[in-house]
Amino acid sequence: MELDKMDENDWKYHGEGNKSLVVSHLQHCKVLRLLKFPSEDSAHTRQTAEQAFRHIPNIVDYSKYVMKPLLGEKYVHSGEVVKLPLDFVRQLSLKVQQERPELRCDKVMDTFSGCGLCLPNLTQLPLHHLRDHSPPICVEIKPKCGFLPFSRHITKECKCKVCRFCMHQHYKLANGKWKRLSRYCPLDLFSGSKQRMYVALKNLLEEPQNNLKIFKGGELIFSCKDDAKQQPELNDLIQHLRPYFPHSNSLYNGHQPGKAVLNEFIQVICSALLSGGDSNRSGEPRKVHLSESRPHCEASPFPRDLLRNGNHGLPKDSVLAKILQVQMLDNLDIEGIYPLYKRVEQYLEEFPRERNRLQIDGPYNETFMDTVKNCPSEDDGSVEYAVGKVHQYRVAMTAKDCSVMITFAPCEEDEEHQLNLEKPRFTYSVSILDLDPKPYEGIPHQNKLDTKIVNYYLRSTQAPP
Ligand code: ATP
Ligand code: MG
Ligand code: ZN
Ligand code: MG
Repeated sequence: MELDKMDENDWKYHGEGNKSLVVSHLQHCKVLRLLKFPSEDSAHTRQTAEQAFRHIPNIVDYSKYVMKPLLGEKYVHSGEVVKLPLDFVRQLSLKVQQERPELRCDKVMDTFSGCGLCLPNLTQLPLHHLRDHSPPICVEIKPKCGFLPFSRHITKECKCKVCRFCMHQHYKLANGKWKRLSRYCPLDLFSGSKQRMYVALKNLLEEPQNNLKIFKGGELIFSCKDDAKQQPELNDLIQHLRPYFPHSNSLYNGHQPGKAVLNEFIQVICSALLSGGDSNRSGEPRKVHLSESRPHCEASPFPRDLLRNGNHGLPKDSVLAKILQVQMLDNLDIEGIYPLYKRVEQYLEEFPRERNRLQIDGPYNETFMDTVKNCPSEDDGSVEYAVGKVHQYRVAMTAKDCSVMITFAPCEEDEEHQLNLEKPRFTYSVSILDLDPKPYEGIPHQNKLDTKIVNYYLRSTQAPP
C-alpha cells in the first residue's frame, strides 16, 4: 500500500462496531480499521487526535504481546499501524457516511489523528479470488462469555446458574436495545457437544442481534436488521447458500430443502469451530474440560434431558477452547476484582508516579504479559497482586468480547486445510478479531452494570405474577 497515493475511491464501507469503523479495499484482501469517537468529543479535536495516536499502537502491541501468545499464533492477525494522509481520511469519512447504520451514528469516525490499523480482510480467503471459484462465505460470531463464574466472592446465587449473556438479554430488552430475546446461550456453543452447538448456532440464525454476521465474497448478506422490529430473512440466506450445498438440495425428496441447506451449513461451522486449525491430522483430538463449575445454563432452551448425551469438552487446540481459556483468567469475578481495583486506586492516590511502573495504561509489552502470567494465586495483600489480577481481568474481558471469523469456500481435490466432511469439501480458515485492550477505568462501570443486570434479572424472573 503506497501511503502517499491513498485514494478514497479504492475503499468502501465494510462494517463497524462500537469502537471502530472498517473499510475494505476494492482489489486487495485488506481492510483499514479506524477509531470512532462520541460526536460531542469531536469538538476537542486535539485531545481526541492524541488519544487515537496512542491508542492504535497500543491496540497492535496488546494483540501482539498479550492476546496472540494466549490465543495462538494461527488465529490472531495483529495488523500494522498506518499513518494516513488527513485529506484521504476526511474524504473517506464523507464517502462512508451514507452507508452507516443509523444505530451506530452516535459516534463519528476519527478524522484528526491520521492513524489507522491495516489488517487482512478476514471475510476473504487469500489467493482464493485469483481462481475461478465461488465467492467465500464468512461467518462472524461474537460468542461472549462461555462459562459460569465460580468465584467465592459471588454474592448472588443466580450468577452461578444462569450465564451472563442470558441474564443480560432481559436487561437489554427492558432498555429497548433489542426488541426480542435471543435464545442463543454461549454455554451451549462452548460445550463441545455437537447437539448443543447446533442448537446455539440455530438460535443465532434466528435472532442474530450483534452476535452473528454472514458475508459472501466480502459483502454482508445476513445480520440484524437496522430496524430492530424486523426479522432477518432466513429464506434469503438459504438462497445464497444453496449453491454451496448442491448435495442437500436433493435430500428429503424435496421436503424442506431449505432446512437441509441450513443444517449442512451449521455442520460446517461446527466442524470449523471444533477443528484445531490444521484439520489434516487423523484421530480424535484430546478434549479439555475447562469448566470447573456447572457447564449448563438454566436459561438455555436446550432440553435438559438431552444434556447427558454426546461428546462433551472442546478439542484442546480449537478456537473455542483457546478463547474460553483466556476468558477464565477472570476467576474472581467482578465482585472479587472491584475491591482489588480500589486497592490499586488507593495506592495510586498515594504514589501517582507508580502508575507507569505498574503499566496501568500500558505499554502492553512482554513485561505486561509477564505480570499477567505470573500473578500469584493467593492474595498477599500487596498492590502487585491486585494489579496482576486486574490485568488478568482485563485480558479476560477482551476474550469475552472478541469475534471469531470462519471463512470457507468449496475447494478442489487435494487442496490443503479441508474440513473433514464427506461431502461437500471446503477450504477454510478460522481467525479471532477485535482484541482491543479494555480500559482500567471501566472497572467501576462493570461493577455497577453487573449489579444492575443481576438485580433486574431477579426482579423480572422471580416477581409474583
Ligand atoms: P465491538 O463493538 O464488537 O467491540 P469494534 O468497534 O471493536 O466492535 P471490530 O469488531 O474490530 O470493531 O470491527 C467491526 C466490524 O468490522 C467487525 O464486526 C467485522 O465485521 C469487521 N471487521 C473488523 N476487522 C475485520 C477484518 N480484519 N476483516 C474483515 N472484517 C473485519
Ligand atoms: Mg467487534
Ligand atoms: Zn445462558
Ligand atoms: Mg471491540
